[in-house]
Amino acid sequence: MRKRVFSGTRPTGRQHIGNYLGALQNYVELQEEYDCIYCIVDIHALTTLEDTDKLQENIYEMMLDWLAVGLDPQRSILFIQSHVPEVMELYTLLSMVTPLNWLLRVPTFKEKARLQPHNVNYGLVGYPVLMTADIVLYKAEVVPVGEDQLPHLELAREIARRFNSLFGHVFPEPQAKLTPFPLVLGLDGVQKMSKSYNNDIEMAATPQQILERVMTAVTDPARRYRSDSGHPEVCNVFQLQQSFNPLRAEEISTACRSANIGCVDCKELLAQGISSALEPFREKRGALAAKPHYIEEALSNGAGRAEAIARETLGEVKEKMGLVWASRLDLP
Ligand code: SF4
Repeated sequence: MRKRVFSGTRPTGRQHIGNYLGALQNYVELQEEYDCIYCIVDIHALTTLEDTDKLQENIYEMMLDWLAVGLDPQRSILFIQSHVPEVMELYTLLSMVTPLNWLLRVPTFKEKARLQPHNVNYGLVGYPVLMTADIVLYKAEVVPVGEDQLPHLELAREIARRFNSLFGHVFPEPQAKLTPFPLVLGLDGVQKMSKSYNNDIEMAATPQQILERVMTAVTDPARRYRSDSGHPEVCNVFQLQQSFNPLRAEEISTACRSANIGCVDCKELLAQGISSALEPFREKRGALAAKPHYIEEALSNGAGRAEAIARETLGEVKEKMGLVWASRLDLP
């Protein structure tokens, strides 16, 4: 029997090539070996979003990218977190078995509280419990994560273990599956590629837009003149060349070290590599955008399939926790 994979992603709108290399390529491949559940976690987004005007548009654009890149709604369950409300019930029940000090010591809570001191809401503290509910509601055994997310998954495992030891076994302890390409640097060469740092290249960008974005990339800071030899190992353009022009990476590396290629030419090559790698994606995205009903049907079908699993798990949880009503007429 195939194992079940779960992964949740915040609705950040159009996906960028960091999402593509760091997660989406992997998600597509996992469909071959696992039963996959991919969820757009809109409730999680509310812990940091104060303005929700663009939330639905972001969900739509992200789903369009997911489908165009090859996530298959016939094989995988693709759905929106809030469309399966059982997750909120399980979140509440798991919060009863999660010691508060486990949550207060989570580094990302401290970091978020530092970044948004005006909005340190209760949801921020409970974030790992909701994340655990997302995973265990579907009894997922495998969770694809980057190394930076391992502590979160460990906490989910601890919460599942604690529930099982208090009330009896219901949940498998989810195992991490490390993604092969966990960190993609942004065009600034310093931060992780992210829309919020404005250092990204959208997957759906046109070849001209890709070229314009690549031209802004920071390269080897020690290479100030065309005649200086470069150091590809510290250049984020080169990191991307390895992914988008893998057959020419060796040649580019040698030419950079010997100053036989300038950064402008190198960037043009990179932009061409990204454009041609994503051409089939752009075409499929265009075709899907003309069929909004298909996207809605895929999401609605995904929510239905997810809810069937969720109801069954939640029933087991309530029974173990003594929440199933026993009529007084049946009591001795
Ligand atoms: Fe980076 Fe390419 Fe310039 Fe070398 S030639 S420093 S790899 S952009």
